Amino acid sequence: MTLATLRSEGKGALARALTRIEKAPDDTDVIDVLSEAYRAPQAHVAGMTGPPGVGKSTLINGLIKGWRARGKTVACIAVDPSSRRSGGALLGDRIRLATDPEDQGVFIRSMAARDRLGGLASMTVQAMVLMRALFDVVLIETVGVGQSETDVIGVADTVILCVQPGSGDSLQFMKAGIAEIPHIVAVTKADMGATAERARADVVGAMGLSEVAGGWQVPVLLLSALQQHGVDDLIVAIEAHADYLKDGGHLVGARRGQAAQWLIESVRERFGREGVRRAGYLGLEGEDSPFRRLSEVSRRLSSP
Ligand code: GDP
Repeated sequence: MTLATLRSEGKGALARALTRIEKAPDDTDVIDVLSEAYRAPQAHVAGMTGPPGVGKSTLINGLIKGWRARGKTVACIAVDPSSRRSGGALLGDRIRLATDPEDQGVFIRSMAARDRLGGLASMTVQAMVLMRALFDVVLIETVGVGQSETDVIGVADTVILCVQPGSGDSLQFMKAGIAEIPHIVAVTKADMGATAERARADVVGAMGLSEVAGGWQVPVLLLSALQQHGVDDLIVAIEAHADYLKDGGHLVGARRGQAAQWLIESVRERFGREGVRRAGYLGLEGEDSPFRRLSEVSRRLSSP
């Protein structure tokens, strides 16, 4: 299993690779391919979060269409909270329904969130890293259930928060103090008219209270995925944020920071806080692979 074979063998091979990563994350061939992928990023990674029913799946279908029309390949990871596993269709299935299964340029993977964190699945980082080396855009969808808004920032370059008009989300947004987390806010269902306009004004007001970090002005977009209005503007905003990260030299450092954070969390998950202490320095330098580091640290901590 190498990136080259995954590129040439298409979606079936990628699906099998992801299953293998989930089943045997510590095997040498898995660590090798993940490390190779980590050093060859190609895609920009966007994370989308928001409460159930806000219109994320509909919007993602619109985004996928928009990117495909621009000739870009798209991989999507849909993270379902485990509490919803029993009821209703999986997010990923709802997105898959609207895409062409024959299109090799669109890949969709559902993952169940781990119970502890609620927001993101434990294999999201590995799946993202692999897809990031193979596609032009990676899109991660997660239901906003408390933690996930902050979790998604650990895997995405650009975080998009979806807000439902008339739901009080915009007020929640101010109270929760998450106004500093998203890079883009999308107020959905613009076809609801005045209610949607008001939600946008509320969010703009909320954003006004927060400091704009590092010169990026958070755009608050009003869009209707159902009527395909404003979806292109969202694509443009995501691209603008990608350019901002690259041009400002923020991207490489931000990604290395995410990887280092993942390494610390993974060590903590396996060996507890004591393990993190015993592990010593867990920072990453240059192109150090977090996957290789985790396996080295695990071997060291497991040996008597
Ligand atoms: P998710 O749970 O956040 O993924 O939300 P969905 O995409 O499944 O949408 C939830 C409901 O909102 C569905 O009934 C959609 O048809 C509806 N919906 C989604 N986008 C729009 C929109 O732009 N306008 C209107 N009026 N309804 C929408």
